[in-house]
Amino acid sequence: MKDKGVLIVVSGFSGAGKGTLMNRLIDEYNNYALSISATTRAPRPGEEDGREYFFLKKDEFEKRIEAGGFIEYACYCDNYYGTPRDYVEKQLKAGKNVVLEIEIQGAMKIRQQFPTALLLFVMPPDVAELKRRLTGRGTESPEVVAKRLNRAVEEAKGIEEYDYILINDDLETCVKNMHEIVEAARSTPYRNEEFIENIREELEAIAKGEK
Ligand code: 5GP
Repeated sequence: MKDKGVLIVVSGFSGAGKGTLMNRLIDEYNNYALSISATTRAPRPGEEDGREYFFLKKDEFEKRIEAGGFIEYACYCDNYYGTPRDYVEKQLKAGKNVVLEIEIQGAMKIRQQFPTALLLFVMPPDVAELKRRLTGRGTESPEVVAKRLNRAVEEAKGIEEYDYILINDDLETCVKNMHEIVEAARSTPYRNEEFIENIREELEAIAKGEK
């Protein structure tokens, strides 16, 4: 069918294991590209500029907003986060499924701009596990943890806006489920309008005896 990739949004509570899930997906299958966002938050220990994020100063980020350099951006826990436009457009054209790991405000903006985007929400198996994963990371201060838990309360209100929920209990199962959902989405009629149109034209030509 069509050779354009699917734009996939992956959201989920902080600590739901999205990062690990995405890395595993990229390792396992070769038709995915993970978009690297820009942010104004400080790098965590071990994070590198251009790998986890492009770390920008606030004024640099605002300049890029002005220049239309992001397909969406949002303010999350006092910092900007945004999806660079060039990379996403290029990879989609090249037939890759492009994954954006972004929060809910950004997800809603993507849905408006790209109605065929696939929206996935990753959940830990239960809330106790969510709390354990978030606080267990040990890289965040208690204030930041509290802020993120409050934010999770807000995000939980928007889950119905997503197409699928992925329960991240067993990593391998979750990766496999995600890939199957994406493959199924790639075959939906509304993501393949051009292909269907060509088939119709061919059929009409055959019916008219032109072919
Ligand atoms: P963290 O600071 O933990 O890396 O990310 C905080 C939140 O920002 C996560 O929910 C993450 O998905 C989201 N995020 C990361 N990049 C972007 C982006 O480019 N746009 C938006 N809207 N959210 C993002």
